[in-house]
Amino acid sequence: MRQNDVMSAIRYSIVPARPDAHLYRVSCTVADPDPAGQQFALPAWSPGSYLIREFARHVVSIRAESRGKPVAIGKLDKHTWRARPVAGPLTVVCEIYAWDLSVRGAHLDASHGFFNGPCVFLRVVGREDTACELEIQRPRGARYRNWRVATAMRRKGAPSWGFGAYAAADYDELIDHPVEIGEFALARFRAGGVPHDVAITGRQRADLPRLARDLKRVCEQHVRLFGRRAPMDRYLFLVTAVGEGYGGLEHRASTALLCSRDDLPRAGEKQTGDRYRSFLGLCSHEYFHAWNVKRIKPAAFTPYDLDRENYTTLLWAFEGITSYYDDLALVRCGLIGTQDYLELLGRIITSHLRTPGRRRQSLADSSFDAWIKYYRQDENSPNASVSYYVKGSLVALCLDLLIRDRTKGRKSLDHVMRALWRRHGAGGVGEEEIERIAEEATGLKLQRHFQAWLRSTRELPLKQLLATQGVEMELRAPESSSDRGGKRAKSEKPAGLAMLGIRVRADGDAAQVTHVLEGGAAQKAGLAAGDAIVALDGLRPGQGGLDAALARRRQGETVAIHAFRRDELLSFEARLARPAADTCVLSETGGARRVLFERWLGSGRG
Ligand SMILES: [Zn+2]
Repeated sequence: MRQNDVMSAIRYSIVPARPDAHLYRVSCTVADPDPAGQQFALPAWSPGSYLIREFARHVVSIRAESRGKPVAIGKLDKHTWRARPVAGPLTVVCEIYAWDLSVRGAHLDASHGFFNGPCVFLRVVGREDTACELEIQRPRGARYRNWRVATAMRRKGAPSWGFGAYAAADYDELIDHPVEIGEFALARFRAGGVPHDVAITGRQRADLPRLARDLKRVCEQHVRLFGRRAPMDRYLFLVTAVGEGYGGLEHRASTALLCSRDDLPRAGEKQTGDRYRSFLGLCSHEYFHAWNVKRIKPAAFTPYDLDRENYTTLLWAFEGITSYYDDLALVRCGLIGTQDYLELLGRIITSHLRTPGRRRQSLADSSFDAWIKYYRQDENSPNASVSYYVKGSLVALCLDLLIRDRTKGRKSLDHVMRALWRRHGAGGVGEEEIERIAEEATGLKLQRHFQAWLRSTRELPLKQLLATQGVEMELRAPESSSDRGGKRAKSEKPAGLAMLGIRVRADGDAAQVTHVLEGGAAQKAGLAAGDAIVALDGLRPGQGGLDAALARRRQGETVAIHAFRRDELLSFEARLARPAADTCVLSETGGARRVLFERWLGSGRG
């Protein structure tokens, strides 16, 4: 018998005690605490979001007691406490401030409550494998009468969608089921043999039947890729709709999503607009993670070390491959057309080509340094780093197309994903394992390509590989700073801001420089991030901003720029450069490659 078998469950309770002050009261009771003095810790980060966030900073108060008597508890480091040794059951109670309306945070006011486990649940050090019970309590007061609870955590006495007792097999599971508390709308469908629910909080008037219908197709598409049945007993999309917002965090049986209410489909609306398409892409992304990163996971995350950074070079696969399949699933299940898909792909390639940092940082390094770079972006980020989401998804694309081409369409990245799922569905993927499995599953020698795509800064062979599946890739100059690519140019209009090599945001009458791009005209002229541009050739840019003012100018011309740096007015002379052909348009060539094209974007298991 293992020691754990005789230990009783760790009992947690959480109550939205003071919505007015955004305070949860969370308690944790250990029946048989460490005789040397039980330690408790809050995670420094949340799985899926690779930044040290030090959730302990939101602990407002903490106290301990045993059999009704106070027990001394003190801090060992920024997120660890130790209680004085006691023989009997030990309870720790803390108040936790919750005013972070993000998918990885905790939030509470009189309209609703949400929490992501790592923000609120103390880890009982040394007892991570012990079963946990959680009592979720209703706040006091008539106004909370209609509140319900939405979570994928297993109920242990609580009624469906109700307050009461829930259970988790261990601490890792306890913190992997985010919880929404409040009044929410529900939609339900079945996919992969299990029930799926959508709970939407916030003011919205979404067409729920349509949302359920569309999500069912997306989920079934992913289930079909990996097997026949969804890998969980139920799944929950927890959606918070606000005015402007975007974000998602994956969990084993649910996802927490933040969106704009305008991203949701309206009743009576038939078409799939840009915003709804991107919401479906987000849902698709997080659902794919239920396999790729929640179950197939890096050895570096098995188990997670919640005290510090967990380094891996594999985020290109766990985020990049997931990003590749998120939109791909939408076209494969027929929610968007192939032309829409090529437009989305064109935009992703455009975004990659507009990142000079792709010549500085390899994909493996981008992943390893996620903690200090991708998650801590600053004004120099586009010049110094590359996104493991964007480049990772393009490497997944290249890999898929290469495999399809070399095997004459017999094999694809789908085969690699299925092999990974069979072999590593329970985690523990070594740093070179995916490369090995890709070779085994396809019978191809891929090492040279992985070396170039993952560990060097060489350009990806996108044009050649797309051509093998009947897609032509063309590059042109941007038309304006709002031109994201994917579509043909509307006119022969010059490129405006692109000739200057900066990114700006409007700030009253001025244009605030947010980024100065490597090697561009503005950098050569001496402009810096933070400069507030007030005049071009002595004139205020006026309506339309810098973009419109520069659209009348030609490359090679010199413009006088006046800008404030802090409180000092400076003047610069910039020689407008030829705008880079960094805007991608993809089109289907048809003809003999039509069959390959359809096999790639079609719905069958290819
Ligand atoms: Zn992701």
